[in-house]
Amino acid sequence: MYSDDFDRDHLWHPYTSVTQPLPTFQVKRAEGVHIELLSGERLVDGMSSWWCALHGYNHPRLNAAVSAQLQDMAHIMFGGLTHAPAIELGKLLLQMAPPSMDKIFYADSGSVAVEVALKMAIQYQHSLKRPVKTNIATVRSGYHGDTWNAMSVCDPVTGMHHIFGSSLPQRWFVPAPRSRFDGDWDEADISPVRELFAAQHDNIAAFIIEPIVQGAGGMFFYHPQYLRELRTLCDEYGILLIFDEIATGFGRTGKLFAWEHAGVEPDIMCIGKALTGGYMTLSAVLTTAHVAATIGAGEAGVFMHGPTFMANPLACAVARASCELLLEQDWQACIARIQTQLQGLQAASTWSHVADVRVLGAIGVIELKQPVDMQRLQAQIVAHGIWLRPFGRLVYLMPPYVISESELDFLIQQTLAIVKNCE
Ligand SMILES: *Cc1c(COP(=O)(O)O)cnc(C)c1O
Repeated sequence: MYSDDFDRDHLWHPYTSVTQPLPTFQVKRAEGVHIELLSGERLVDGMSSWWCALHGYNHPRLNAAVSAQLQDMAHIMFGGLTHAPAIELGKLLLQMAPPSMDKIFYADSGSVAVEVALKMAIQYQHSLKRPVKTNIATVRSGYHGDTWNAMSVCDPVTGMHHIFGSSLPQRWFVPAPRSRFDGDWDEADISPVRELFAAQHDNIAAFIIEPIVQGAGGMFFYHPQYLRELRTLCDEYGILLIFDEIATGFGRTGKLFAWEHAGVEPDIMCIGKALTGGYMTLSAVLTTAHVAATIGAGEAGVFMHGPTFMANPLACAVARASCELLLEQDWQACIARIQTQLQGLQAASTWSHVADVRVLGAIGVIELKQPVDMQRLQAQIVAHGIWLRPFGRLVYLMPPYVISESELDFLIQQTLAIVKNCE
């Protein structure tokens, strides 16, 4: 009833059948925390368009940044040329990033940033004359994107790695940490990493992980001690540590970046998603002066990557405006307020069909015991005047930070009503 015929017949949607598609809802416009459908409904957004739109939609400051940049140039190649948007954004990012980060590689999307980070790690090891240190280790239940090598470090079960057979590189997987963020630290969590490194460090270039929050792989918040132990083990075995902060960045977990919960820094860090405030695709890979210098002293002398749209000026200009907007407000208080209010979801924790309710920063998760019926649920969500996109057993909220107290209350109450109905 909501689908456009052309859309239904010809357009692929993410992780959706193109032959038996579920209905899609056509959006006319979006402003602040509201999404307006062509059919007239006005929905309160609980998803920030997958972690991205932290200031809400159609923000005058971000619109103005795009318009102003458009008057100068939409794009210019980054080979041999540079521009103020890339430089000014870079200065801001280094202020926000872990102190040891010093060099920035702009890329197109989160997945590409992960590809770039993995290549950086391997080129680093190669430059140190360790040519067999080419594999990657990671945890299960991770998510790092959908391109080839990013996919290879996603959870092998939910990522259906068997379908891709021998064309997908085989990575080293350890069990995901089980110690909860706010619970006790269990030493046993890190043992598999210690054993893996002891046996296989000769062939491992890097360990990649989403710090604190495993996002699309299960929305689980794990104990910061895991990252501290991991840092020590990586140092011991000459393995680079890559933090994928593509989902967790820009305040979402209550810190500017999630590494701050643990206080240990990565060698390489990927950011994306909310970088442009949800306006367009842009990502960046940050690394230390040491990693960059090592690559520079290696056989190639240069890093072997260079996207056509590297440091796109429109994207950099809006990213700069988005970072400024975030930093000039009391974002800690804003996230703390959202976190406190999201605790209202705990009302569901005693329901027999609910397995767990957890909240961290501006992320609220209700984990059910059974997978949800997406077709039924998606229509109900829209009928309740909100926008969520549950997956598997997870109904989760990560609203734009501009959401008001009453809008967030509405979002939470409607979410509870919908989850109650899943019984
Ligand atoms: C979304 C995501 C990616 C992939 O980003 P794309 O822009 O979709 O390619 C990578 N890592 C994490 C942690 C993500 O959440």
